[in-house]
Amino acid sequence: MSSSRPLILVTNDDGVSAPGITALAEALRGVAEVVVAAPDRERSATSHSISLDRPLRVDQLHPDVFSIDGTPVDCVYLALLHLVPRRPDLCVSGINHGYNLGSDVFYSGTVAGAREGTFFGVPSLAFSLAARAEHDFAPAAAFAAKLAPLVLDKGLPERTLLNVNVPPGTPTGAVVTVQGRREHEGTIMEGLDPRRRTFYWIEEGRDRWVSDEMSDITAVRNGYISISPLQTDTTHHQVMAAFKPWEAALRKP
Ligand code: MN
Repeated sequence: MSSSRPLILVTNDDGVSAPGITALAEALRGVAEVVVAAPDRERSATSHSISLDRPLRVDQLHPDVFSIDGTPVDCVYLALLHLVPRRPDLCVSGINHGYNLGSDVFYSGTVAGAREGTFFGVPSLAFSLAARAEHDFAPAAAFAAKLAPLVLDKGLPERTLLNVNVPPGTPTGAVVTVQGRREHEGTIMEGLDPRRRTFYWIEEGRDRWVSDEMSDITAVRNGYISISPLQTDTTHHQVMAAFKPWEAALRKP
């Protein structure tokens, strides 16, 4: 019995029961068959980590919802190799509780989930809601249900994923952006634990964003949905020629 409906694999880094993934899966079920494979708890900021030093446990909550005690990348890896009934046509990660703008894409488990899909050659999207306190996922979920069919229809270029950030409230529109730049002033909190040992806590710190017209942060600040095409090839191709002479320099004894 084969279905003609496309299959979408859904993951996140906020955990399988987070409101963001629930809204996303529900919206995507309107356009495709959906299988959810997500961490059993919050695994935000786990980046592209994969668990190689311990077994993974899977809890099948519903026929098409899997809870896994691993990272988002573990979930996508396991789902694609073992859990899904056939190769998904699309992998969607999110909707993250909070934005993933600029260099966040390197820390983000949400983006990593989508990147892992891309590694497997499955067109992949990451969705984040750029709200701090109140989270209404409805507009972001509605946009996912609008963008997914377009990607299913058109596909994505090789080794490319889309990082989507949705502003709070009702979006003004959607724009294609570049990854923004910022200078991060990190702060570390120092304190004493109840056993009087010093601890350090990495705090969110302050971001100073470098403004440019086309960036993800500028779009979201102006109320637009930001769509940044990211690549899994992180080679800085423009500087290859500048480094080429180093080969000769390094050959000298
Ligand atoms: Mn998260």
